[in-house]
Amino acid sequence: DPERIVEGLRYPLGDAGALVLFRDITRLRQLEQVRQDFVANVSHELRSPLTVIRGFLENLLDGPLGRDAEVGPQLRLMEAQSQRMQSLVEDLLSLARMESTEPDPQRLQELLPAELLHRSLNSLAPRIQEKALRLALEVDEDLAILAEPLDVQSIVHNLVDNAVKYSAAGGLIRIAWSETATELCFTVEDQGDGIAPEHLRRITERFYRVDRGRSRRVGGTGLGLAIVRHAVERYRGRLEIHSEVGRGSVFRVHFPLALGRRREVEREPENT
Ligand code: ADP
Repeated sequence: DPERIVEGLRYPLGDAGALVLFRDITRLRQLEQVRQDFVANVSHELRSPLTVIRGFLENLLDGPLGRDAEVGPQLRLMEAQSQRMQSLVEDLLSLARMESTEPDPQRLQELLPAELLHRSLNSLAPRIQEKALRLALEVDEDLAILAEPLDVQSIVHNLVDNAVKYSAAGGLIRIAWSETATELCFTVEDQGDGIAPEHLRRITERFYRVDRGRSRRVGGTGLGLAIVRHAVERYRGRLEIHSEVGRGSVFRVHFPLALGRRREVEREPENT
């Protein structure tokens, strides 16, 4: 039956040959698809009402109520929370897209991660300064990667954002983007809190967070690393994580060498 999805597992039995087990996972895949579609639809439906609410909130904040001693702070709280909700909706939509589709050949572009990196660092500059973080960049400025812009942007931004969020004041963040004989490598290394081994296994699951209290303080949706993992796997790449509590973490993304391009691409306009 061509409609059925079957998974095979092979157990070698030495001289006796091998035992091969087949499992019908059609139903499992269907349920997974239903879940993905549901999340994508809900997120999509939440987008428009949120945009309307945020628009009117902004108007109120700009008017006399925004300057009111009592109402002003409440409006700003609503604005901050609706901002959080919007990030969540956007992250859920990104994740749904990355989980269920292959990269679109029409959308592939030669991207310079170095440029995306500078953009991320610019947007994070106030927090980097506030924590007096030091940066060490070893970035091959001419090394491009053939991918969808949103994917590479998500990978770069989420990893750098986490390094900034979970670094202690004065810490060093090392970022490298290079080509080896066998692959393209993007590395973000921090001297932050680190992650204990029991959490490390689950860290790329959706909404998995080590310390809920701290997460609420530093912000974020709990979807960042899930997005990174799925974005990387879309290109048959691999996310490697090493971490030690109290010493820091290393997040390294390996991409197939075939995605690498070495040529000057046109600079993208700075409009995001
Ligand atoms: P969040 O929005 O909470 O940062 P992520 O999916 O990006 O969500 O990360 C999941 C959890 O992994 C975080 O809540 C944090 O506990 C941990 N984590 C991620 N990056 C780092 C890092 N560089 N150092 C220490 N802990 C980290």
